[in-house]
Amino acid sequence: MAYVVTEACIKCKYMDCVEVCPVDCFYVGANTLVIHPDECIDCGVCEPECPADAILPDSEPEAEKWLEMNRQYAQIWPNITRKGESPADADQWKGVADKFEKHFDPAPGKS
Ligand code: SF4
Ligand code: SF4
Repeated sequence: MAYVVTEACIKCKYMDCVEVCPVDCFYVGANTLVIHPDECIDCGVCEPECPADAILPDSEPEAEKWLEMNRQYAQIWPNITRKGESPADADQWKGVADKFEKHFDPAPGKS
């Protein structure tokens, strides 16, 4: 069991989640975050912290398709434990559909 970050995080990247994770298992890309599913201890603390509702337990059907994406990028992006600056237009991207297909950036971010 693990929690995953969905496409709702893309271009929102508020980063409230990283500060609360007791095992520091968030990894940062250019415009989104992921959780390393093998490091997540399933505590659930991050889920209510996310203003974009982008974090789900992998028991939810909707989370399934994001699990491998989280695993894949957690292995190549840098670890992040401190909240950085979120994008100025983050609120504009909250709730926008199909962000992965249209806006996902596979480049690593800065921790
Ligand atoms: S709080 Fe939510 S939107 Fe912000 S970085 Fe974490 S998962 Fe992404
Ligand atoms: S569920 Fe807990 S361990 Fe997993 S990412 Fe969220 S805060 Fe970290």
